[in-house]
Amino acid sequence: MNDWILAHETPIRLGFFFGLLALFALWEALAPRRERRLPRLLHWYSNLGIVFLNSFLGRILMPILPMALAALAVEQGWGLFNLLVFPEPLPLILSVVLLDFFIYLQHVMVHALPLLWRLHRMHHSDLDYDVTTGARFHPLEILVSLWIKLALILVLGPPVLAVLVFEVVLNGMAMFNHSNLKLPLGLDRWLRLLVVTPDMHRVHHSTNPREANRNFGFNLPWWDRLFGTYKDQPAFGHEAMEIGIDLFREPRDQHLHQMLIQPFRPEARTYGFNDLSEKER
Ligand SMILES: [Zn+2]
Ligand SMILES: [Zn+2]
Repeated sequence: MNDWILAHETPIRLGFFFGLLALFALWEALAPRRERRLPRLLHWYSNLGIVFLNSFLGRILMPILPMALAALAVEQGWGLFNLLVFPEPLPLILSVVLLDFFIYLQHVMVHALPLLWRLHRMHHSDLDYDVTTGARFHPLEILVSLWIKLALILVLGPPVLAVLVFEVVLNGMAMFNHSNLKLPLGLDRWLRLLVVTPDMHRVHHSTNPREANRNFGFNLPWWDRLFGTYKDQPAFGHEAMEIGIDLFREPRDQHLHQMLIQPFRPEARTYGFNDLSEKER
């Protein structure tokens, strides 16, 4: 089973990625929530360009990828779920939920630490919010995130299938909740009891630091509610709220080559947690 999953990881992940990209792109074209600010061609060239770059760099720069490490951990008996016996399918469910919790904590951390915020702010510098924003992460942030995931896999020892499910679900959910979708408000209210919806995560992309330092969850909405980082709606409403960060608002900042150098640009201060506390004082 594990060998089969490892041999088919790439086609499975690519199939879900392109299938869901097409689905949500069509959906947001038919029922958009907000007007676009950027030409779609530029937006997609930059955001999808970074996706291809990231998958390429991950493969050549990482010594091992998460699923291969999970398989090795099973073989060697490393990690919680390989050391202790749990009834099935508990290891699968618990692994996916715990990985999601740690991704939430990691997201809080990249906002809180100035050096990591430099990497993460490229995700927030998008002036539009659509399906491709969900995959727009700086290559250095992707590498940091892959190392953290490897460490988690060593500690947890999740089943290989759990890592595949988590990667596919995280990827798909990130595309869903960054989509420029207009969901009926009643449906959104119910849906966000179970998953992070586009309206819930859009609050996190506000230029207002009080809103951008809320709603850190990517899949499950419970962590934000549990740890007090939940915000229901943006103050100015979803159509009028400003998306992005104050630092990078020029059209040229949305070009792929400019996005890649954003972490190294001298202007360090935007809203990190530091800035937030200053404004609240
Ligand atoms: Zn963020
Ligand atoms: Zn986001």
